[in-house]
Amino acid sequence: MIRRRTHNFAAKETGSWRTEKPLILSDRCIQCGICIEYCPEGTIIRDDGGVEIDYRFCKGCGICGAECKSQAIEMVREPDEG
Ligand code: SF4
Ligand code: SF4
Repeated sequence: MIRRRTHNFAAKETGSWRTEKPLILSDRCIQCGICIEYCPEGTIIRDDGGVEIDYRFCKGCGICGAECKSQAIEMVREPDEG
């Protein structure tokens, strides 16, 4: 299966910007795809069993969690470095 980001213009890795990261709660996810449409980095992808986040490009903005109508995305704090 070929995985690719959906709608970003430059392949800039924004993962190091995060202070929070989204976790997909698979037991709540109904695979509607709304989060895929709203993610400004295009870093949520469909996988065989549902949706998955490529954290290399996730900047932790939280839009996916705000738009998910099933409350299937939880934002959790990244551990502090140093
Ligand atoms: S918006 Fe929520 S329910 Fe829909 S695919 Fe994304 S995580 Fe799953
Ligand atoms: S937190 Fe922002 S960048 Fe990361 S997957 Fe969600 S919408 Fe995309």
